[in-house]
Amino acid sequence: MTRIAAHRGGTLEYGDSTPAGFTATAKMELEEVEFDVHPTIDGAIIVHHDATLDRTTDRTGAIAEQTSQDVLAAVINYSQNAHPLRLEQLCEIFQTSPVQFRCEFKPDRNGLPYAQFVPRVVAMFEEKHMLGKTGFSSFLVDYLDEIALHSDRPRLWLVSPAILMQLGTKGVIETAKNRQIREIGVHIDTATPALMTMVLDAGIDFGCWAAHTSEQISKALTMGVKVFTSDRPSLAMTIRNQMQKD
Ligand code: FE
Repeated sequence: MTRIAAHRGGTLEYGDSTPAGFTATAKMELEEVEFDVHPTIDGAIIVHHDATLDRTTDRTGAIAEQTSQDVLAAVINYSQNAHPLRLEQLCEIFQTSPVQFRCEFKPDRNGLPYAQFVPRVVAMFEEKHMLGKTGFSSFLVDYLDEIALHSDRPRLWLVSPAILMQLGTKGVIETAKNRQIREIGVHIDTATPALMTMVLDAGIDFGCWAAHTSEQISKALTMGVKVFTSDRPSLAMTIRNQMQKD
């Protein structure tokens, strides 16, 4: 069965990385919740998609250049006045949920990995007894290499359309193999059965991201990819349930 991952807690249903979205996801009959993490200047780990607060909240500026007090005062758009969560709060929401974590390491506002950040995030999951149900993802292979130094949990390489075009399928497979990456995810619109077959034949798991419309969700389910992320987890579950009945 194709796994569903609620992207940022279901952005198009609950707002971007909101407490309501994550609380709802923890109770959904799906397999994973996807979220992104950023550090503050005073050492907190914030669950938010963008490196800055500009696009998704009533505040501005890079999360990594502000104190946790300032970042946590931001009000998230479409959240009914909720504030960003710290990673430990997210762990508490999912403490007794069977939904698994898919933690994405995003770059800073300049596109670079945050220094010394990976071990702190891994340590937080360990402290909260959540590491055993956490997988990691990133568009940056350097991050994936660093994660492997600190954890043997699964690592998923998010392959952007530009990288897929530049490297080609063979180049992507070669890169994954060279770095012991056992799973990749591509944008749903770049996924084809031929690409999936080549990746699977190379012994690498294949998933998709950004399946937000009915058409995209149905495509991922029909292809039978391992997992896909969606900003509309409720819609994805409805379509999956319907397809299982048919
Ligand atoms: Fe993400």
